[in-house]
Amino acid sequence: MESRIAPSQRKTPKAGVDYPRNYAEFMAWFSDDAACLDYLDWIRWKDGFECPSCHGSKGWRMKNSKWWCDACRNRISPTAGTIFHHARTPLTVWFAAAWHMTSAKNGVSAKTLHRILGFGSYPTAWAMLHRFRCAISNAGHDMLSGHVEVDETVFGGVRHGKRGRGAEGKVLVAVAVELLSPKGFGRCRLQIIPNAETETLKVFIQTHIKAGSCIHTDGLTSYPSATKDEYIHHGTSISGSGKDANEVLPGVHRVAALVKRWLMGTHQGSFEEGHLQAYLDEFAFRFNRRKSTHRGMLFFRLIEQCVAMHPIRFHELVANPKPKNEKQEFAVPSNLRNKAPPSLDISVPTHPWRSALP
Ligand SMILES: [Zn+2]
Repeated sequence: MESRIAPSQRKTPKAGVDYPRNYAEFMAWFSDDAACLDYLDWIRWKDGFECPSCHGSKGWRMKNSKWWCDACRNRISPTAGTIFHHARTPLTVWFAAAWHMTSAKNGVSAKTLHRILGFGSYPTAWAMLHRFRCAISNAGHDMLSGHVEVDETVFGGVRHGKRGRGAEGKVLVAVAVELLSPKGFGRCRLQIIPNAETETLKVFIQTHIKAGSCIHTDGLTSYPSATKDEYIHHGTSISGSGKDANEVLPGVHRVAALVKRWLMGTHQGSFEEGHLQAYLDEFAFRFNRRKSTHRGMLFFRLIEQCVAMHPIRFHELVANPKPKNEKQEFAVPSNLRNKAPPSLDISVPTHPWRSALP
């Protein structure tokens, strides 16, 4: 048994110390499952051990990496009660998936992950990415502030019906984007909304934007009442301004275009409607950290959020239990069904290409 090391004094995570700066460091740090488990332990109990059962703070770390709680005498794994709880997928694979999801500019699709990490099945890769998205969605956020554009946009394939607000069978999404001076955009928030009525938009604005901020919108009649009292409101009627919508509200149009392009590109437009919010949250997670010097910072934040997230069962992830394209998307060879991928921690001879027999 070993006693706890001193709590971390660092408030801002440091590149090369708290998270890997690049792929080389990532590979060197997390070459085996034990190293990954130790990292989870460190992230979870950075400020000292806290027993998830009794909240006791006195414990010892045992040789098998579990903690022994002095108060309730339970043995606790660093993964207990987190998204990694009882996962059959080895931690090296979770970590590699998290690295790919956060280091690639556009993230990664389940199909690509399935292919590159040797997952036994497509659903395993799909479920892992969705577990990551749940952790991202679950995290608390700082509110947007300053000058913020707010608008709504419509998602969904080509369907018949009314266009724009109130279109049937399509998903309406509220978008908020910070405007930075002298130019450029700050952070964004995207949320599915049932309609563009005053009460709905008021809740969206109050949830995501600090009171006292200056809100820029188009001329929709819901906005003046949705923002009164707590915000300064600048409404510009698109038709009356003689400008295009993307000139009046450049931030929200830019973000909406980027999200749609991302869904069409990385995910080939094949997202399930019930999971759209999770994709929107993943987009915002990446967009809001696009100016980070090191991509490893996103990896660090994702792992942090996974440790703070409770376990999620597969059936909880499936928004629509019987999707239309179930057969096509979930067809898995029977010999690979339910098979956990092997650990990436494999022992290989040095220079196998030299020792191979002809
Ligand atoms: Zn305890």
